[in-house]
Amino acid sequence: MKKTITIMFLIACATMSLAQNDPVDVKARVAEYAPYDLKTDVSKLTKNDKELIPIFIQIADVMDQLFWKQTYGNPADFKKIKNDYVKDYIKINYGPWDRLDDNRSFVDGIGEKPAACQYYPQDITAEEYAAYNDPNKGSLYTVLRRDGNGKLKTVWYRDEYKTEIDKVCELLDKAIAIAEDPGMKNYLIERKKAFQTDDYFASDMTWMDMKNSHLDFVVGPIENYDDKLNEAKASYEAFVLVKDEERSKELAKFVAMLPDIQKILPCEPKYKTFVPGTSSDLNVYDAIYYAGDCNAGSKTIAINLPNDDRVQAQKGTRRLQLRNSMQAKFDKIMLPIGNLVINPTQRKHLKFDAFFWNVTFHEVAHGLGVKETINGKGSVDDAMKTEKTSWEEAKADILGLFIVCHLIDKGEITGITKEDAITTFIAGIFRSVRFGAASSHGKANMMCFNYLQKMGAFSRDEKGIYTVNFDLAPIAINSWASTILSVQGEGNYDFAVQFRSENGFIKTELQQDLDRINTTGIPRDIRFNQGLKTLGL
Ligand SMILES: [Zn+2]
Repeated sequence: MKKTITIMFLIACATMSLAQNDPVDVKARVAEYAPYDLKTDVSKLTKNDKELIPIFIQIADVMDQLFWKQTYGNPADFKKIKNDYVKDYIKINYGPWDRLDDNRSFVDGIGEKPAACQYYPQDITAEEYAAYNDPNKGSLYTVLRRDGNGKLKTVWYRDEYKTEIDKVCELLDKAIAIAEDPGMKNYLIERKKAFQTDDYFASDMTWMDMKNSHLDFVVGPIENYDDKLNEAKASYEAFVLVKDEERSKELAKFVAMLPDIQKILPCEPKYKTFVPGTSSDLNVYDAIYYAGDCNAGSKTIAINLPNDDRVQAQKGTRRLQLRNSMQAKFDKIMLPIGNLVINPTQRKHLKFDAFFWNVTFHEVAHGLGVKETINGKGSVDDAMKTEKTSWEEAKADILGLFIVCHLIDKGEITGITKEDAITTFIAGIFRSVRFGAASSHGKANMMCFNYLQKMGAFSRDEKGIYTVNFDLAPIAINSWASTILSVQGEGNYDFAVQFRSENGFIKTELQQDLDRINTTGIPRDIRFNQGLKTLGL
């Protein structure tokens, strides 16, 4: 910790003047995160659930402490700060760097976020890392430290974080002793071993085998985005989740229909000979606790795990749709945006259920369509080269909407209309590209938006209000889906590049509307009130 402060001070001297010239309105930044209570229907929790949840939350809190150690160091450094907004914003970001602003510092006198975080010595260089000869240096579960002579050494997480891991194992023992669901019990037993050995394979396998548990508990060192030096080190996090049995069952029914849905995709038969799998694990949950990495900055609303491709090859993955977190983003961000840009007579079509199904079937749609080109160019991914991700995202977006509309027609999805699905989809694009469309998904969004507009699916008036044309929209949806499937099926890279360069960006009129949205104070993301009290337990 001392070391951290010294280095911070040195960096501080170098950047002090810059920070003072450009003060950050931290109060406004805190307001950009809308608070939301993480709740679930506690009447549906069993006695055993109610015993396990407090233990899971205690373990999650240790993940939180561990993530602080990994990404920043010691949060006690901030005790001296007087400004409550600054304190709050440090909490949201797990450190003094703004995760929604390229990790720029918002605390006077603190420099840039070190790429190494605390996964490596702060003074390590890429050359030193490359020259360091140790087979475990790139492991997800090791940190690099310096020995007494200043030479690099590799330390396993189980040793580096021994105090916290011991506490986790103690708590896991308690949970193992009382867990009634055999799948959950097995998973917890294996997960404890994983924490002690830094080998997560067996526990990921048992996690995939856990099918009937009403609770889920994603816990451990999982994603590696926080390590900006090598994207090699896993960050601790936890989600405590309660399965929405009704919606999960509904979803399982829809997944079983996928082979039939594949047959009715709006494209030539030659592009849909691929038979999609129906064994994917796709469930809906209420999230009741986020901790560590997943709670820092922008909040995820869907999870797809495990990351270990050996487990994926044998067991597939589990996709977890976090319904209440989606509701939070819909209520606090998506709906206010829709209410600014959609024609007042059509705002009644902006519905959470439509948003939920669109987002969920986006995930499902990745598994449909074409995987191999039909003309010997190999896999779609290989043939589409640099265009592969944006076109794959574009496919998932429009096929997701297509499937939702189809299931509404069939009477399988009830409670919303096609008008709801389409209007909510279009309004959703404004939310997605609000701060730019540079990402693959941003480009996908803009290709779709510009295509649908050109085909008359919606129109814009001079005030920047958008009106959906419910006669033309379905035709435009089908033809955009058909275009994408044929581009992928033919592996038509040249067309893909040209189309994307002409359409995959935000055009002037839309930018004006986005600027308007961004002056209204609509939040950028959400933050959670969470815990036993919030749950009412
Ligand atoms: Zn996707």
